[in-house]
Parts: sequence; C-alpha cells; structure tokens
Amino acid sequence: MTNHCCEAMSRHVNVRCDQHDDPFACPDALIKFSAKFQEYGLIIHDGGTSSSTIDFCPWCGRRLPESQRDRWFDELESRGIDPWEDEVPAEFQDDRWLAALPRD
Ligand SMILES: [Zn+2]
Ligand SMILES: [Zn+2]
Repeated sequence: MTNHCCEAMSRHVNVRCDQHDDPFACPDALIKFSAKFQEYGLIIHDGGTSSSTIDFCPWCGRRLPESQRDRWFDELESRGIDPWEDEVPAEFQDDRWLAALPRD
C-alpha cells in the first residue's frame, strides 16, 4: 500500500463507488493513481480513459512522488521481460516491485 501525501488524496485515490466499477465511468472519481508507475492523474471525463498526469497534489499542494515509469520498463528489461510481448509478473502490476528494490 502506498502512503499518499494527505488524507484527501488517499480518499480520492481509494474512492469506491457502488454504481461504477470503472473510475472513468464515475463522475465522482477525480484521481487515477497508477501504483506500478507511482503516477497520479486527473481523470478527464470525456467518455474515454484519458487522464492528465499531475506533479502536485491539488489538495495539499505537496509535490507528488516522481514517476517510476522509466524505471519500471528498465527493471523489466533487466529481467529479460518485454512488457508488450511477455506476461508481466504480478509484483510489477502494482507497487510491490518498488518495495523489492534497494533504496537509494
Ligand atoms: Zn495531498
Ligand atoms: Zn460512481
């Protein structure tokens, strides 16, 4: 589980709606958090799955963690896994892969 910058952010990231399984279909859902990339996005309700990546929390103003997207691809590559072709290991589907890395 990732700790978010503030309570408001955690609440929005973890919002669960009984009417919509898909946050992109739910008008109340504002934030899409990608655990595997550590990326936060503002959901754009245009009927698709667009979101706009944000660097600062809209509620507390703190800088959000840096995106780990490039590292995610690097780590998979170093294991000889092609995410487009091969099956992505379970720990790479959320933030578990980060916990396994040495901290710098
Ligand atoms: Zn915040
Ligand atoms: Zn809803």
